[in-house]
Amino acid sequence: MRKQIAAANWKMNCTFQEGEKLLDDILGAEIELANHQLAIFAVPYPYLLMTRSEVEEEQNYYVASQNCHHKKSGAYTGEVSAAMLHSMNVNYCVVGHSERREYNGETNAMLAEKVNLCFENFITPIFCCGEPLNIREAGTQNDYVAAQLKESLFHLPADKVKNIVIAYEPIWAIGTGKTASTEQAQEIHQYLRSVIAGQYGEEVANEIPILYGGSVKANNAKELFSCADVDGGLVGGASLVAGDFIEIIKALK
Ligand code: PEP
Repeated sequence: MRKQIAAANWKMNCTFQEGEKLLDDILGAEIELANHQLAIFAVPYPYLLMTRSEVEEEQNYYVASQNCHHKKSGAYTGEVSAAMLHSMNVNYCVVGHSERREYNGETNAMLAEKVNLCFENFITPIFCCGEPLNIREAGTQNDYVAAQLKESLFHLPADKVKNIVIAYEPIWAIGTGKTASTEQAQEIHQYLRSVIAGQYGEEVANEIPILYGGSVKANNAKELFSCADVDGGLVGGASLVAGDFIEIIKALK
């Protein structure tokens, strides 16, 4: 079975102590993950080592960075490179979250560089794509997300791309309490998989987990994750409440 993933995105929330308590509460639930199930915590940079040591002993629990820089190293004050993350044993990195695309001017071309650097450093990118509301209203979301994949991922060889995780996150659903319907989610996830299949073949496309993100909550996770092409979720708000994220992990197929 394809990997099924519950990924928490803490964004710029929680003090260090609150983060530790949140992890303790979630891990305290002792949810045993099956071989194909993963729980990943994308935490702020200063919490990476603490989170890594919290999850180290747990089967299929991982830490992720929320970003990395698109250059290898050098005079980029305040930035963090993929090589630095690798040196801290961080194995996952969120790349191209819509908030970074919007507030930090990240382009598809820059994200292609980030994805390359992640792979060079043995880090699995959790690559985010998704359309804004005006694109959804115009009905051109498929072209929009296909272009995001093509411009940031399709330079990669099949043996690299098959290791990626994709998160489809419609921008109109992030932090808004508005969730895509199961029909909308399944339709576009299936489309994304077909775009990948067109470039790399069915076998590769069928291996790549495609997560849904956008107001996933404890009470809608099961329904969303039950869609054939939805392989879990990237979760913001609800990942900050231990009880809610526990339910979301339990909702994995
Ligand atoms: C996100 O942070 O990627 C996200 C989907 O946030 P929320 O779950 O709060 O909509």
